[in-house]
Amino acid sequence: QQARRKTIFDLMEQIASHYQKALRDHPKAQTAVDYLRKRGLSGQISRDFGIGFAPPGWDNLLKQFGTTEESRQQLLDAGMLIENDDGKLYDRFRERIMFPIRDNRGRVVAFGGRVLGDDKPKYLNSPETDIFHKGRELYGLYEARQFYRKLERVIVVEGYMDVVALAQHGIRCAVATLGTASNSDHLRTVFRYCSEIIFCFDGDEAGRRAAQRALENALPTMEDGRSIRFLFLAEGEDPDDTVRRVGGTGFEALVAQAAPLESHFFDSFAQQFDTNSMEGKARLAKQASPMLAQLPNGVFKELMIEELAKRSGLRRQALEELQREATPPQS
Ligand code: ATP
Ligand code: MN
Ligand code: MN
Ligand code: MN
Repeated sequence: QQARRKTIFDLMEQIASHYQKALRDHPKAQTAVDYLRKRGLSGQISRDFGIGFAPPGWDNLLKQFGTTEESRQQLLDAGMLIENDDGKLYDRFRERIMFPIRDNRGRVVAFGGRVLGDDKPKYLNSPETDIFHKGRELYGLYEARQFYRKLERVIVVEGYMDVVALAQHGIRCAVATLGTASNSDHLRTVFRYCSEIIFCFDGDEAGRRAAQRALENALPTMEDGRSIRFLFLAEGEDPDDTVRRVGGTGFEALVAQAAPLESHFFDSFAQQFDTNSMEGKARLAKQASPMLAQLPNGVFKELMIEELAKRSGLRRQALEELQREATPPQS
């Protein structure tokens, strides 16, 4: 098992090089190069992230790497091939810009691939495999750790393009969840390397929902000494759009103004209902109290409960009562 895993990592590294090489010298690569240029990416940034090109064709990887039964099985195990109903194998990624996804040790464990035009699906990701667990990896985290000697903060965004566009503008600390919602595993991973997270999702309905889920997932990870903030973008923009409009320095300025978790927490209730009316205060207490119960014990938790008491006009004892009501008895 151990030996087999090593060869899968080797294979993935070779495939990443193969895609990078295709971006440089495959006869059909010009559209891919043009596409990356149109998106504002330099050759240097593409190289830094190991961006490549999967040429058109159903059997490029098969021909190059799948010459034996064993190597075909390996490609299949690595998620790089698809097997159709008749048992026929073909390349999963065809005619796409390829983003290698690296684990915390820098090993290529998966790929994300984008179409060059408006075809669907826009992005295709590797499936879950022995070496790739979507819910755990963050695109760009390894590259960010390589770039900064000491990583101070991480900006969590939605897409591959957001990560590389920010890097292109000198902001090298963005990471993306891989088409899944950010979960508390992701946050714990990031907090292993730095103490500050800034969430920056797209300025659309999906992005706002992602921010709400991120807030809920963040609560149990908010130990003292850590900081979580939220950056909301202009309607219809994602970080790629915004950084191209305002530039790297402009984006840094937005990051500096991002709302701390505590303000976002209370503001999000204030947006949903009138937290100044008596009924609103009751709702606030009922909804917020069980959420705050999830915070790890510490000064931050104390301050948040204090703040909730102030805003709702309820005493601590009453708030704790609400927590108990909301927590179903363990069976
Ligand atoms: P681009 O700027 O290249 O058009 P984007 O990154 O802004 O793309 P979004 O539609 O905002 O794309 O999606 C954000 C992220 O969600 C993508 O980077 C990708 O990881 C994931 N994603 C989007 N569409 C799909 C899809 N059809 N299948 C799997 N993952 C997807
Ligand atoms: Mn979006
Ligand atoms: Mn987007
Ligand atoms: Mn985009």
